[in-house]
Amino acid sequence: MAIIGGGMGGLTAGLAALQVGIDVQVYEQATSLREIGAGVQISPNASRVLHRLGLADALARTGVKPLAWHQRRWDNGRTLLRTPLAHSMEAAFGFPHYQMHRADVLNALVDAFPQERLHAGERFAAFVDHGDHVEVSFESGRRIEVDVLVGADGIHSSVRRALHGSDDARFTGCVAYRGLAPADRLSGLGLELTSQVWMGPDKHFVHYFVRNQELVNFVAVIEQDCWTAESWIDRGDVDEARSSFAGWHPQVQTIIGAVDETFKWALFDRPPMERWSMGRVTLLGDACHAMLPFMAQGAAQAIEDAATLTACLASRTHNEVTDALAQYETLRLPRASRLQALSAANKSRFHLVDGPSQEARDAQMALGNTDWSLDAVAWLYGHDAWSTSAVG
Ligand SMILES: Cc1cc2nc3c(=O)[nH]c(=O)nc-3n(C[C@H](O)[C@H](O)[C@H](O)COP(=O)(O)OP(=O)(O)OC[C@H]3O[C@@H](n4cnc5c(N)ncnc54)[C@H](O)[C@@H]3O)c2cc1C
Repeated sequence: MAIIGGGMGGLTAGLAALQVGIDVQVYEQATSLREIGAGVQISPNASRVLHRLGLADALARTGVKPLAWHQRRWDNGRTLLRTPLAHSMEAAFGFPHYQMHRADVLNALVDAFPQERLHAGERFAAFVDHGDHVEVSFESGRRIEVDVLVGADGIHSSVRRALHGSDDARFTGCVAYRGLAPADRLSGLGLELTSQVWMGPDKHFVHYFVRNQELVNFVAVIEQDCWTAESWIDRGDVDEARSSFAGWHPQVQTIIGAVDETFKWALFDRPPMERWSMGRVTLLGDACHAMLPFMAQGAAQAIEDAATLTACLASRTHNEVTDALAQYETLRLPRASRLQALSAANKSRFHLVDGPSQEARDAQMALGNTDWSLDAVAWLYGHDAWSTSAVG
């Protein structure tokens, strides 16, 4: 099996495949595997997969377990909803919810994966599915023949384009400033150990500790009509980010002001696809279900894909690969599509302007039994992606 893309999805799939005895190689275009300086939430549905791959200690080494999700009002900080996390989440779903530095997750995966099976500096170019095998070529001139090809090459996936034709990702009208501040610069705020989401008109702001509480990660999302930069990531200006949140609570302003640099991300997504697989070729992660990050599930769903794909391929013969990929798609596509839709819906929910709709949302959250109660999120966080009978 060949996996194109050595991000969180591709490497998890590589490790999972090795665990069940599949001969797998991962090909990554970058010459060295690196992650951007930002945080990522690894929810129990994803940590369940990573624990089974032997990464429990590596995650625990730097992962931060938040005590709660704390959703707050943008100007005065009033609590809209507080959902307990650390102990209750682990008790309910059996696995921890972590806040991590992205590099710490990627390094844990890279360290666990045999280096001789990881081919950096190899950019996928094309494939031909011959029915009984797939021929894959790379821009370097390398050619390989494999029984299964997996495109885990992210939102601008070349494998998806080769498989299903071209369709541009769509700009969602949201831009995110991301930053990491040394926690000691923010000690005056006495920040609680929670993941905080501040909701306000046309914007929201998320912050949480990562890397043993040494850093505070923030994501500051604003709405914008278009994105004109050539790249979808641009160096941002800290003062510009702070002035975008003028009038917001002083805590928000102080956290933005504590970083040395910020990057600006245009947020793109895609509508759900009708099919992921054809013949012996399939997709996983952002390559097939890019979503807004407003459920913090993009990487988690890529990690789930990896586990389910492996479970479907395990103990299948060479001639049964197509059936295995069809089963994988049947199990995964509805669940990933549901999360794409929920992520998109959170854009308007988080960004309500003050008025009757916002008051109705806040009143519902104040009841405490909203879509974030442990019962309500069991379908998401209690999901076992290793199971080939569980459709989420
Ligand atoms: C602001 C923000 C916050 C987020 N927060 C969270 C969160 O808290 N929790 C969460 O679960 N998700 C979160 N996400 C989503 C998450 O980052 C992505 O869904 C996840 O990184 C997707 O992983 P992937 O492996 O599918 O793709 P990627 O991480 O994009 O990896 C794809 C890899 O493929 C390689 N590649 C591309 N083309 C080729 C080629 N032609 N040949 C070879 N290699 C190639 C790339 O170099 C890259 O290494 C967030 C996203 C954003 C923007």
